[in-house]
Amino acid sequence: MSDCLFCKIIAGDIPTEKIYEDAEVLAFHDIRAQAPHHFLVIPKKHIASLNTADDAILIGKLSLTASKIAKDLCFADEGYRVVMNCNANGGQTVYHIHLHCLGGRALSWPPG
Ligand code: AMP
Ligand code: ZN
Repeated sequence: MSDCLFCKIIAGDIPTEKIYEDAEVLAFHDIRAQAPHHFLVIPKKHIASLNTADDAILIGKLSLTASKIAKDLCFADEGYRVVMNCNANGGQTVYHIHLHCLGGRALSWPPG
């Protein structure tokens, strides 16, 4: 069995609050939400980080999935942020590529 936390979520071995799923991607609520809306979009295929990603269509689909969900949940018009942390300095803690989507409050810039 994979040691990857998000592969375990995809396999259904760890429960999560799913928002959206299709053959290629899964979206679920972040367990430590940093905003009123905070969900993650991940590919079902294991890719460790942006540094090892080469599937442009799949990586693009993560963003379009986030925007579709933001529209469905009615916070797209007021605005939101999508961010992908990469490696240690980027703050990545789970090495299965994922897009954060945060909304529902004003977000400061730059991030700390
Ligand atoms: P990152 O720091 O960019 O690697 O983000 C990893 C994110 O995964 C963090 O925001 C965590 O709160 C989130 N996370 C970790 N474990 C779980 C889980 N079991 N279910 C949902 N989100 C999780
Ligand atoms: Zn994985």
